[in-house]
Amino acid sequence: MNNNFNNKNNQNNGQNNNNNNNFFNQNPIITFLIFAVLMIAIFRAMSPDSGIMGSSGANRQIAYSEFKSLIENKQISKVMIGQTQIKGEGNGEVYTANRVQDPNLTVMLDSQGIPYSAYNERNPLMDMIFSWVIPIFIFFAIWMFLVSRMQKSVGGGILGVGSSKKLVNSEKPNVKFDDVAGVEEAKEEVQEIVDYLKNPEKYLRLGAKIPKGILLVGPPGTGKTLLARAVAGEADVPFFSISASSFIEMFVGVGASRVRDLFENAKKEAPSIVFIDEIDAIGKSRSSSPMGGNDEREQTLNQLLSEMDGFDADKSPVIVMAATNRPEILDAALLRPGRFDRQVLVDKPDFKGRMDILKIHMKDVKFADDIDIEEIARLTTGLAGADLENVVNEAALLAGRESKKAVTQADMVEAVERSIAGLEKKSRRVNPKEKRIVAYHECGHALIAEVTKGAKKVTKVSIIPRGLAALGYTLNTPEENKFLMQKHELIAEVDVLLGGRGAEMVFMEDISTGASNDLERATDILKAMISMYGMSDIAGLMVLEKQRNNFLAGQTIKDYSEDMAQKVDEAVRLKLKERIDEVVKTITEYKPAIESMVAALYKEETITGEQVREIIANFEKEAGLQSRLVSETTEENEDIEKAKHKV
Ligand code: ADP
Ligand code: ZN
Repeated sequence: MNNNFNNKNNQNNGQNNNNNNNFFNQNPIITFLIFAVLMIAIFRAMSPDSGIMGSSGANRQIAYSEFKSLIENKQISKVMIGQTQIKGEGNGEVYTANRVQDPNLTVMLDSQGIPYSAYNERNPLMDMIFSWVIPIFIFFAIWMFLVSRMQKSVGGGILGVGSSKKLVNSEKPNVKFDDVAGVEEAKEEVQEIVDYLKNPEKYLRLGAKIPKGILLVGPPGTGKTLLARAVAGEADVPFFSISASSFIEMFVGVGASRVRDLFENAKKEAPSIVFIDEIDAIGKSRSSSPMGGNDEREQTLNQLLSEMDGFDADKSPVIVMAATNRPEILDAALLRPGRFDRQVLVDKPDFKGRMDILKIHMKDVKFADDIDIEEIARLTTGLAGADLENVVNEAALLAGRESKKAVTQADMVEAVERSIAGLEKKSRRVNPKEKRIVAYHECGHALIAEVTKGAKKVTKVSIIPRGLAALGYTLNTPEENKFLMQKHELIAEVDVLLGGRGAEMVFMEDISTGASNDLERATDILKAMISMYGMSDIAGLMVLEKQRNNFLAGQTIKDYSEDMAQKVDEAVRLKLKERIDEVVKTITEYKPAIESMVAALYKEETITGEQVREIIANFEKEAGLQSRLVSETTEENEDIEKAKHKV
């Protein structure tokens, strides 16, 4: 099951906002032109030229002879004489003529009784200075001012030139692993990094390859930044932190030079940690942005990639940690070996994790004796660490408003209700009906995984809502193709994927959209078996699709007839039907086991693979069935299962 749907919407909204905010930042040239034209227009309007005759009439250039005849015909009521030009006002117009040395002119004007005076023509140089140079100068000054202010807000100087060396400062965080709770698996995975940063020689002596890049994947507020800082804190190394979204607000070339400086500094202070928040801002896959490439983003990304490829982790131990909540949109180039080839899931905390996080944040607040952390943890299913911190703070504020001496349980409960109400607006929480569907769906996957030969075993089943489209998380890694899989294992994987829908069919009155991603993957696998792996009768050993091996990993080159395409589609459809029938049969047979799993899930939110196996074994014994449990859990399988389980 995945909550893709809501999520994608939220994300898109966020993105749109972003685009609006950044329009001027991302299009500096257009901004420049708009401003320049505006300034010139303003100065033109203000220039003294138009005011000279005190008339707003149109200006007409005429010949001097014509000018004179106008005077003779009494068409002109007022004359201004300049050094090279002569102007006359009349008929609501201003006539201008190039002056001719004509001593008779004043005589003529006098005789006609037309008032005249001399005026100082502006010199053309001054004219130009007034209408072009000064406006541009003023505009440029304003522009520079804005730029420098904008850059200051992200820690930069004017145009990032010169001063950019100081842009990214390191800090030595005093955050420790004890300050991060509820993400035990993630902590374990980064523990190794700490050890390496502390004693690099120990590893280098053995010739061990240490990962350069670690991608922290998880919903917002789950403590990715906190965890990265804790790694630096534990290892006692400098921590350089930067948000990738700040790069794209800058001007072309600045982001890239920023990255260069960042790494230069980090290498100088090595061993050190570079943390890049919101890496998706620059790491979006090139094919996924509908507007085509964004130069600045691509340059910055390329610079980052070349920095990561360039440095030798052995000589300058700089570890790059990056955070994202949208791993599925990342460019495959980022995930290649030697780059962010290690992904660590920083998930929302389960019941126990929430207790631990609450305890951490409740340390510095005064609480009344009636406080019941367990109850609060029960009430806060689906909240992330940052939300929990917020709950504690909100409760303290509530108590403070009423001038209480200590924060009571009632304050805490109210704070929980408030923050959940806020989150529900953002449709982040699962309603009871959905929760029930998710529970059966997940248990369906789990059961099939355990009783099917060749399927990867379960490590964890969870109904905690995930802010992750975790599927893309595995699909995106090109390494996936490295695993050698046998035919029966592929079929087993299809079965497991269908387990979710199968359980819905058996237990629910209706089926849901929750399986769409599962079905997509199952279809892909079956298709690949026919068209790429030579595992079918219809195509035999003939390969119909080739993997294209470039940036756009995942795309394939198709090379077969329409007729063959139809045959493949039909075969896939039939196979899916065969597998789902089989799966439904198994689930029906194990109905009571699934009911027990669901009950356990309702109570604990997360159950382990061991619990699942125990429930199944107990049921098989009671029902007198021969056990179908397959018990070969290798470590490799566990890793894959962890990733896959987000299905
Ligand atoms: P992310 O980077 O995943 O968006 P942050 O690390 O910025 O989340 O979390 C924001 C704050 O929320 C942290 O500074 C911390 O106070 C609190 N917090 C989040 N997750 C945890 C956690 N697992 N344990 C303790 N505190 C947490
Ligand atoms: Zn599923």
